[in-house]
Amino acid sequence: MSQRKPIVAGNWKMNGSVELVEEISSKVLSQIEEKASLIVFPPAMLLSSAIEKGFVTGTQTVSENNSGAFTGETSAELAKQLGAEFSLVGHSERRSLFGESNEVVAKKFSKAQENALTPILCVGETESQRESGETEQVVAEQIKAVIEHSGIASLSNSVIAYEPVWAIGTGKTASPEQAQAVHKFIRDMIAEYDGHIANELRILYGGSVNDSNSDLLFAQPDIDGGLIGGASLKADAFLSIYKSA
Ligand code: PGA
Repeated sequence: MSQRKPIVAGNWKMNGSVELVEEISSKVLSQIEEKASLIVFPPAMLLSSAIEKGFVTGTQTVSENNSGAFTGETSAELAKQLGAEFSLVGHSERRSLFGESNEVVAKKFSKAQENALTPILCVGETESQRESGETEQVVAEQIKAVIEHSGIASLSNSVIAYEPVWAIGTGKTASPEQAQAVHKFIRDMIAEYDGHIANELRILYGGSVNDSNSDLLFAQPDIDGGLIGGASLKADAFLSIYKSA
């Protein structure tokens, strides 16, 4: 048995408001316990409000560049200055809507770490990839791109989120067994490089997690919490998911 501390992370995507930061903070923050971490990933413009309210926060992506003529990009350095501690990298919406390749995601992962943000590397297969039996290969390639760019040791200061693309925002959750199988595959794959890192690594599940399926998902031996989209915008649901971790 490992001592991995679970994480429940809320990915607000381009949703939320100053009022929502207030509502969720007032209902949820007083309930935080030592046994599990809670992190929110609000839109970058709400980061300061969330930090002021006392949330542990992260950005939803970071630029692979330090600074300069990159209109609209999110700087890892400035996010750190504001007080962010984490960054999602390679969320499937960034990969599919904004064309982020495995190589770009690997650069973002290392840019986050350079600026002392802990990256949460999101990986996962599409429905057609699952149907054609390519899940393990796809997920392995997404992780290996980071290992090739930054080395295996970089994973010791990171988190992985397995999010099957077909389960994101669809209401179609992976079954606890399906999710556990991929989580175990990921941990075993990393153990081939370094057993200690594999054992310590938190691997979160994401994709239509809600307050009625989180218990069973989080009870799986290789699932160390969740990355929650839609349900993280509802204070009661988010709190009850947190409590099940
Ligand atoms: P969902 O999103 O919980 O709404 O499916 C998860 C995610 O995109 O991280």
